[in-house]
Amino acid sequence: MEDKETRGLGDLEPVSGMTLIEVLVAFVIFVLMIGALVSLANSGLETWTTGESRKDVYDRGQAVLGTIADDLRNAVSENVFYNDGRKDLMPASFLCDTDSNGAQRLRFVRGGDMERIRVEPAMQITKRVPTMYYGDSWEVAYVADSDPTKNLVYRAIRYFDRRVDYTLLRDEDVQRTGADWFKRHAAVLERGILYLGFRFWTQESETWFPAGTRVHTCGTEAHRPLVQLSAPGTCPVCARPTVERVVQEREDSSDVWDSTRVSDAGFRYRKRKDRLDPDFVYPEIVQITVVLESHASEVRGLKLDGPLGEKDALIKVTDTRGLPDAPNFVKIDAEWIEYDERTYDSIRARRRGARGTKAKPHDTGAIARFGETFVTEVRIPAFRHAVIR
Ligand SMILES: [Zn+2]
Repeated sequence: MEDKETRGLGDLEPVSGMTLIEVLVAFVIFVLMIGALVSLANSGLETWTTGESRKDVYDRGQAVLGTIADDLRNAVSENVFYNDGRKDLMPASFLCDTDSNGAQRLRFVRGGDMERIRVEPAMQITKRVPTMYYGDSWEVAYVADSDPTKNLVYRAIRYFDRRVDYTLLRDEDVQRTGADWFKRHAAVLERGILYLGFRFWTQESETWFPAGTRVHTCGTEAHRPLVQLSAPGTCPVCARPTVERVVQEREDSSDVWDSTRVSDAGFRYRKRKDRLDPDFVYPEIVQITVVLESHASEVRGLKLDGPLGEKDALIKVTDTRGLPDAPNFVKIDAEWIEYDERTYDSIRARRRGARGTKAKPHDTGAIARFGETFVTEVRIPAFRHAVIR
């Protein structure tokens, strides 16, 4: 069958070649379309790259938290000072203090066989015959590099044999991460760790909020640990509206620990060592915070667009692309700065010298680093409360 209409159109307007104008118009449309496609592909690729690098940071963050959590869950506790007939031996202490840069270091003793604790083969562990034998146990230490601008954290492992000279549990032996003795026992936990922080739940803790913070909680004392809001709300247990109160020193969690209370005599519940009644304390829960440098920070970084004085609050930077929304933290050289405002080329500091660091002047071009924050809480099965008299 013939299509009459097509033939009719053909009769009215015979097919001819395109004019130059038509070719040009077609070409311009073609170029525009290609341009749109290319930019679409580009932004797609950028989204994909950002997604991939974010996934990488998340994977690394989970791995770091997983390693620390596994060590903590296997922590051992005891409540006795052993003596080999001449002197008291090193107890299985649980310690957290700060290094000379204000970074926290965590040290304790854990159980488990060598295969399970993931020791780097290069560390060459020597097992001594321990004085008190209850199965294998290990000194574990999480210590930041002595140079805070390196953003490195080490996990050190040593077979626990209670020898008092050179142990990861003694402050003076973990002071310099560059020392040969330390290097033999340590491996880099992860690169780009901008911050590693710990808080400890004591037998009197009621909140993770630091002392002095205003929290909204239930008026009924028994519900208090369950209701910790930063704004007014209702209690999930009794449905009454919350009341505001200030977190007291005693109910706060702690950012230091000394299970033996020997090195820091004032640490909670007892003033001095009593070798016949040690009454060691081990935390119930440990909250771990890790900040890993993000891809955007690693690739671009923010550079200071002028010198920054020790007390300056307005920080001029080249640009703030990729920087997390306020409030958050940036690390310039070794100093942490908490900011509460952010424009395209500046940050306003709420607190200089945050997270245990000191406020210092910085030069033009100094790099401000930032990252993704990961937090987890780990229960310690072997926790031990003190007897409060
Ligand atoms: Zn209530």
